[in-house]
Amino acid sequence: MSTLTFQGAVKEVTGSRYLIDVDGNDRSHRLLLECGLHQGGSDADAANARSFGRLPGELEAVVLSHGHLDHSGLLPKLVREGYRGPIHCTRGTRDLLEIMLQDAAFIMAKDVEWENRWRSRNGKPLIEPLYGLDDVALTLSLCETHAYGQPARLPGGVTLVFRDAGHILGSAIVELTLPSGGQDKRLVFSGDLGNPGSVLMKDPQKIHDADLVLMESTYGDRDHRPLEETLEEFAQVLEDAHADGGNVLIPAFAVGRTQEILYHLSVLYHEGRLRQQMVFLDSPMAIKVTELYHRARKSLDAEDLKVLNVAASGDTRRYLPILRMTRTVDESMAINRIHGGAIIIAGAGMCNGGRIIHHFRYNLEKPDTRLVIVGFQAAGTVGRQIVDGAERIRVMGRDLTVKAKVHTIGGFSAHAGQTELLGWAGAFRHRPRFYLVHGEPGAQQALQAALAESDIEAEIPAYGDRIEL
Ligand code: ZN
Repeated sequence: MSTLTFQGAVKEVTGSRYLIDVDGNDRSHRLLLECGLHQGGSDADAANARSFGRLPGELEAVVLSHGHLDHSGLLPKLVREGYRGPIHCTRGTRDLLEIMLQDAAFIMAKDVEWENRWRSRNGKPLIEPLYGLDDVALTLSLCETHAYGQPARLPGGVTLVFRDAGHILGSAIVELTLPSGGQDKRLVFSGDLGNPGSVLMKDPQKIHDADLVLMESTYGDRDHRPLEETLEEFAQVLEDAHADGGNVLIPAFAVGRTQEILYHLSVLYHEGRLRQQMVFLDSPMAIKVTELYHRARKSLDAEDLKVLNVAASGDTRRYLPILRMTRTVDESMAINRIHGGAIIIAGAGMCNGGRIIHHFRYNLEKPDTRLVIVGFQAAGTVGRQIVDGAERIRVMGRDLTVKAKVHTIGGFSAHAGQTELLGWAGAFRHRPRFYLVHGEPGAQQALQAALAESDIEAEIPAYGDRIEL
């Protein structure tokens, strides 16, 4: 029998990893599905630092659903510890990996440098980053890319097909057909399923045949607000900001959310509803990703591109003429001289670092500034403190009084809500076995109960559980 072992993203939303042992005709073969970074807290650091042991030498292939670091962020560590086989992914994922893994390595090097300064002062042993830029380069050279719908042969008689998951650029649902106990079995891994209501991405593809389904459950317990309401709220905040005369700060994640916000700003611009005269995209990484989305626009939702009128050309000036991409530090610092009428989109998405912090220094203590939160803010981040109503925050060693008006717009999401998850699960014929992954326990139990009402039985695996395929 072939087996699957849950090695991560069980009862949590990060550290996605599943080990597959294929019982081939000749001998057994080991494949790894995902190799994600654990995020948030000291437990996560310890989990990330743990050695892969003999695994890198035993693996014959790695399959990756999409580029987010909680699915891909430990790949360079796997390579550093000796893995040299292929990493199967889509072209969009490979191109995103290049940007994201380089950024991750860069940030890690800086963090370690800081930490080691403190350690050497205190006579503690020095630490090393999980991986460096050379490991990232080697990882990228191992990527083998496949188009959606195109079957690929893997060792042990396994066939791989990617389907569009509609979550971020290149995101895929993974379909593996593999031999087990003398039969062919089909394993479907949802990856992260997109929100059909969001722009730029196509709807997640529905799949009809499977013996076993691993399904994400991030928003298993709730539905998102309808996009029209969210957009109306967003437009109103921008209008009020213009009336007040101050700047608008939007902390945003570089992948997906930034491009979505730019899309909505363009639509408002062309409807004559955007009163601000300047939009700054002030994040080197988000600029790179936005340019990548342009190059890969053929894989995005054609209807949305028609709205932007960029299907034929990738010229950003056509869809948002007032957009300025500020790459250099000097360009970024020049924004500090603008006291009103600008929209500034900058990372980090949870305000834990990046250029948004500098804009806080110049804008957060002004009552006419609007801070618009468009993404999830995890516990312990500066963004979360502000959303929770903190009157003072501390950034870059100084206290700032939050006088800006803060708006949390919760309707943007790159994940399917409960109704969409149920719809996706309901499309399978012959009721496969379901396992819920990539979700907090509460969300998973709610989804499990909702699935049961549609006669779909789903299990919630624990770390280390092994199942037969
Ligand atoms: Zn994701």
